[in-house]
Amino acid sequence: MAFDYVVIGAGSAGCAVAARLSEAGDATVGLIEAGGRDSNPWIHIPVGYFKTMHNPSVDWMYMTEPDPGLNGRRLQWPRGKVLGGSSALNGLLYVRGQVEDYDGWRQAGNTGWGWDDVLPYFRRSERQERGESAYHGGSGPLAVSNMRLSRRICDEWVDAAQAAGYAYNEDYNGETQEGVGYFQLTAANGLRCSSATAYLKPARKRPNLDIITKAHVKRIVFDENRRATGVELLRNGRTEIVEARREVILCAGALGSPQILMLSGIGPGEHLTDMGIDVLRDAPDVGTNLQDHLQARLVYKCARPTMNNEVRSLFGKMKIAAEFALKRSGPMTMAASLAVGFIKTRPELATPDIQFHIQPWSADSPGEGVHPFSAFTVSVCQLRPESAGHLLLDPENPLGAPKIHPNYLATPLDCATAVAGVKVAQRIAGYEPLKSAITEEFRPDPSVQGDEALLQWVRDTATTIYHPTGTCRMGQDERAVVDERLRVRGVQGLRVADCSIMPRIVSGNTNAPAIMIGEKLSDMVREDAKAGSVALAGAA
Ligand SMILES: Cc1cc2nc3c(=O)[nH]c(=O)nc-3n(C[C@H](O)[C@H](O)[C@H](O)COP(=O)(O)OP(=O)(O)OC[C@H]3O[C@@H](n4cnc5c(N)ncnc54)[C@H](O)[C@@H]3O)c2cc1C
Repeated sequence: MAFDYVVIGAGSAGCAVAARLSEAGDATVGLIEAGGRDSNPWIHIPVGYFKTMHNPSVDWMYMTEPDPGLNGRRLQWPRGKVLGGSSALNGLLYVRGQVEDYDGWRQAGNTGWGWDDVLPYFRRSERQERGESAYHGGSGPLAVSNMRLSRRICDEWVDAAQAAGYAYNEDYNGETQEGVGYFQLTAANGLRCSSATAYLKPARKRPNLDIITKAHVKRIVFDENRRATGVELLRNGRTEIVEARREVILCAGALGSPQILMLSGIGPGEHLTDMGIDVLRDAPDVGTNLQDHLQARLVYKCARPTMNNEVRSLFGKMKIAAEFALKRSGPMTMAASLAVGFIKTRPELATPDIQFHIQPWSADSPGEGVHPFSAFTVSVCQLRPESAGHLLLDPENPLGAPKIHPNYLATPLDCATAVAGVKVAQRIAGYEPLKSAITEEFRPDPSVQGDEALLQWVRDTATTIYHPTGTCRMGQDERAVVDERLRVRGVQGLRVADCSIMPRIVSGNTNAPAIMIGEKLSDMVREDAKAGSVALAGAA
């Protein structure tokens, strides 16, 4: 098999890349995905993430190594292994981050990545239910809509937050992110719009696009000039080579992309040598700069029924199913959270440093059964952690799950922000109308008092909000893995486009930014092809 472009990974970014590169019809594209087709119906029903997460038929089921910042706990890190990648399993929340995130990338020397540069790609990808505007696209492939579900307890949180002094924001993806309000979703007509639904569905009949599923890429193949000429993959128990006539584009995500680079000889030289892998390029930063958002989940018991009660009765379940079947609304259209807040923990900050996710239900951990009592969850996460971890190949099984070291809560600022975030949550809970709705502080319980105790509670209970990024970071220094045109340094014909290229994690959820990265990459590839240049990092 041979294609002009071989795209590895049909996730948030990879679907956008493959669809855009095949759209003009002047190039052939092979999109290679380790997972299968997105035929599991729970993928398309929004609340289905409770069924797909931790399901090995569509989830890579990664586990982190024991983390000192979490008192030695290991976390489950779900990642989509199916057409659509993690956008097929995620919580559907549509968030772009802050203007300053992207301006920061540009100020670090990454020309073309400032807010003004990336906004057109967010708009191009988007089909916003509220219509087209200066901030939103109206006719793109990715459907973005308002909630089809409301619950009183979430409205009460939004009201209490306003009473506590935080302004209401109708559109956190608009002029400013700051404030409290309701999430926008990647959904249309009450169904999930994954990157596969958005980009592959309309493109899959194109004669110049081949979507190859259940094909696990083992490594990228290079010629004697260090030019990527194809990929080696495992399919149906057989090793095959797929040739790339122009370029290989790696979109395997923040865990898959650095792993494939290392397996191809691009990574920390000593580690590769230890693993018995020939070093093509000693690139010490591959797999480093691993950043994630860590969420502390406060649970409050309340007087009135919440969704915990609705889903625990047979009648409740039948009502929910009927509402979805008849009206495509109700709890089955629920994203991971209903209400949102972007808030500053200190007035001197230029932009919010914490994000709230408010859920009208509670559980010991997301993806597990709900509590047998009426309660709701206030999740709080630091938006721009300083802490960064790394990943390495597993010496026992280099092709299997990498060894993931997240290194959460490793700096004083991250610890202070985690505690400050919990305290803001507790302050809001003291305002009406929320105050009267709460009967008991369940997590943390009232005996947890003082900053040190709160920090220990966070270390003991916090979990991922599923946003690993940064492991093939873009930058201008020699150690940066890719340059501003996402070309891998030290080799030719190879680019990376997914969450791994983020120099710093964005201040928000990471699906929309991954799709934007895929959209932007496709333009850069086409521009360079027109100019006749090969993908060579640092080339003019
Ligand atoms: C449970 C969960 C909830 C989330 N909730 C939200 C949310 O509500 N909002 C939000 O914005 N973000 C959310 N996220 C995060 C967001 O979905 C991801 O950051 C984003 O999808 C990542 O996009 P990506 O293109 O970098 O990687 P992915 O979408 O993960 O795509 C990588 C693809 O590469 C494939 N691949 C990997 N290795 C190989 C290999 N060796 N061979 C072939 N194929 C390979 C994978 O199977 C996958 O399809 C959530 C994530 C999860 C897991």
